[in-house]
Amino acid sequence: MDAGGGDHKRVVVVGGGFAGAKIAKLMQFDADVVLIDSKEYFEIPWVRNRSMVDPPFADRSLIQHTDYLSNATVVSSPAIGITQTEVLTAEGRTYGYDYLVIATGHVEPTPRSRKERLEQFKQENKSIKSSSSVLIIGGGRMGVELAGEIAVDYPEKKVTLVHEGSRLLQILGPKASEKALKWLTSKSVEVLLDQTIDLNSISKGDVDCRVFTTSAGRRITADCYFVCVGRPLGSSWLEDTILKDTLDKYGRLMVDDNLRVRGRYNIFAIGDITDIKEIKLGYLAFKQAEAAAKSIKLLMQGGEEEKIKKLAIYKAGPPLAFVSLGRRDAVGQLPCTTVSGYIPGLFKSRDLFVGWSRKEIGLKRDML
Ligand SMILES: Cc1cc2nc3c(=O)[nH]c(=O)nc-3n(C[C@H](O)[C@H](O)[C@H](O)COP(=O)(O)OP(=O)(O)OC[C@H]3O[C@@H](n4cnc5c(N)ncnc54)[C@H](O)[C@@H]3O)c2cc1C
Repeated sequence: MDAGGGDHKRVVVVGGGFAGAKIAKLMQFDADVVLIDSKEYFEIPWVRNRSMVDPPFADRSLIQHTDYLSNATVVSSPAIGITQTEVLTAEGRTYGYDYLVIATGHVEPTPRSRKERLEQFKQENKSIKSSSSVLIIGGGRMGVELAGEIAVDYPEKKVTLVHEGSRLLQILGPKASEKALKWLTSKSVEVLLDQTIDLNSISKGDVDCRVFTTSAGRRITADCYFVCVGRPLGSSWLEDTILKDTLDKYGRLMVDDNLRVRGRYNIFAIGDITDIKEIKLGYLAFKQAEAAAKSIKLLMQGGEEEKIKKLAIYKAGPPLAFVSLGRRDAVGQLPCTTVSGYIPGLFKSRDLFVGWSRKEIGLKRDML
């Protein structure tokens, strides 16, 4: 099936996270826009951790794509291939494009419908509530934020965090790692660094589900566990396509200064999937969506040579990121320093940027 037609150019966006949602929103009245996402809804990934301890919190952070896209076609099916002119989905349909935007960030094994996702949070919450000890595997942003949420909301539970690196939060500076470790320890979270848990033995059911042994031989008893490592990039579906040679060794799409996939005139890539050297952040994905939308609108006017010179240039963002530590505190990486405690918590930890994210895609900060 070909989407669109007539005078309007066809823009297909693959991936409905921060980058894809924003560009679809920005382009929907300038082109025939098709948004292809594995799920029916936009999700703010890091809100998952608060939603696991407080399921109603998820309500505002899971947004049906059709709630913010009034003039675009939404397709809820994974994309599995592309040609010079079309995108193919798992449902066996094809969508023709004049301009293609790839924004498939990271892949999470989340349900297709919002209702099922809300139910999943309720089940995870039940599991946490009924446990007296919890094991978290992975000390990156996801693992640290989850440990913080559980430690604050359920201080009576024994939380153990196992991390394979020598410091937590390796994408931030060492000072931020130290501050996060100090905060977690002050909340009685036991942090085991330089150790791993064999995930294969868990998935094969080789271990007693309550006793885990780390690579250093430390035995941990936990009534439930959460794996917070290895969110794969959403690029494996491109490996046998016309873009296979533009994937770098990490599976990221190599882009030029205009966010076009290297060597491609009409294919853009934005968000976490790109090889831009910066801390991967939702707010930067929004900025990339703005730059790419501006360029596509310009290219749609024709007169190539002249227009190409005027395409928006994207400059990598500064090292600026916040990691929440429960409902009140956070650790913040700023360009020249790190801060922790209540003040950075004012930025992130209360609302987790939910109101701000909603506003960025044209919705009210709160649900009616
Ligand atoms: C714990 C944690 C805390 C964070 N905190 C912050 C923060 O405070 N502030 C901030 O700005 N950023 C933060 N980030 C980073 C932010 O979440 C990411 O940078 C942002 O989500 C990237 O957006 P994206 O659209 O590129 O990718 P994603 O959000 O990963 O979205 C990708 C979309 O593509 C879809 N998809 C994947 N493959 C396919 C396919 N084959 N076909 C169709 N659809 C597909 C997925 O379903 C998903 O909807 C945090 C990240 C983590 C993990």
